[in-house]
Amino acid sequence: MIKAQGFAALSPTTALAPFSFERRDPKPNDVVIDIKFSGICHSDIHQARDEWGGSKFPMVPGHEIAGVVREVGSSVSKHKVGDHVGIGCFVDSCRVCDPCKRDLDQYCEQGNTPTYNGFERGTKIPTQGGYSNVIVADENYVLKIPKSLPLDKAAPLLCAGITLYSPLVHWKAGPGKKVGIMGLGGLGHMGVKIGRALGAEITVLSHSEKKRDDAMKMGAHHFVSTHDAEAMKKYSNYFDLIINTVSSADINMGDYFGLLKLDATLVAVGAPDRPLSVHPFPLIMKRRSYAGSVIGSIKETQEMLDFCAKHSITPDIEVIAPKQVNQAYERVLKSDVRYRFVMDMAKL
Ligand code: NAP
Ligand code: ZN
Ligand code: ZN
Repeated sequence: MIKAQGFAALSPTTALAPFSFERRDPKPNDVVIDIKFSGICHSDIHQARDEWGGSKFPMVPGHEIAGVVREVGSSVSKHKVGDHVGIGCFVDSCRVCDPCKRDLDQYCEQGNTPTYNGFERGTKIPTQGGYSNVIVADENYVLKIPKSLPLDKAAPLLCAGITLYSPLVHWKAGPGKKVGIMGLGGLGHMGVKIGRALGAEITVLSHSEKKRDDAMKMGAHHFVSTHDAEAMKKYSNYFDLIINTVSSADINMGDYFGLLKLDATLVAVGAPDRPLSVHPFPLIMKRRSYAGSVIGSIKETQEMLDFCAKHSITPDIEVIAPKQVNQAYERVLKSDVRYRFVMDMAKL
């Protein structure tokens, strides 16, 4: 077994604390990765605090992992020692169901194996995530990070980046399309940058007026303060696509459906702890759609990393030491992250 160190939640109500554990010895198809940087996603907080139910403890969160290959198993052909690599939200899937065969493994019918808060396929061995110094994973679920992307800035692409890239591409954001991004946090700010690079017109819909200047610097064309009823009214029937990244259920979806054009779509990616109440009238009256989307496939994640390298797209990050993780969680909860915390695992 390989000795690992990191930070773990031991219960839903206690602060994350230093934690020692073991990773499996590499099997022939496995890659051993020295984790250099690990992003903090709001989903880590939801799960560490058991807000979605079913959390498993002790839990080492983290699914925005960037590192360097330390060792490869005897059959590995895709990666070699010294390569820059990443791991996102899942580390295995059944590989034989219809979505897996169609390169939609994020929608695996048997449920893919989450990077943490799950079990290794067919076992009761818990998976543990990126708030640690080393990880072992099947080579097919390991992404190549182009050398032009610095590893600290590459980490958040593995979840925040792909979670916005996938619906933007699926719903054809591009020239001539008006796209609204609800919430300017880790996910939302990647939506601004990627949507802009795809050629769409981007409007940020934010409950934090103070983020206006940042949004414009990131490439947004417009910024709407959602508390400003007059400003919201101006955007009635305006958008071809809205992506909701808000982590809280304290929003009135009717206000946002009204911003969609006839036949346009609002996509949920934010995953709050409580249900959102939805009245169907604004959907009915303009044949609007309400959809959802989860991360992206392994193939699409690689495409996204290559797209970000080509267009020099990187997140705005604040690099911290792992021991600052609990303060970082509090700032994320106050919508005070600018715009992703990334832990430097060398400072463990
Ligand atoms: P984040 O950095 O905390 O950003 C969330 C943003 O939501 C905040 O910055 C804030 O933006 C807005 N917000 C928060 N509380 C609000 C409130 N009470 N009213 C209105 N707006 C509020 O979180 P994240 O890491 O981007 O994740 C966002 C959500 O997506 C989380 O629920 C996470 O679990 C989920 N997620 C889903 C997927 C997927 O595959 N579908 C993947 C990753 C994460 P403003 O200040 O601009 O309003
Ligand atoms: Zn995430
Ligand atoms: Zn499958």
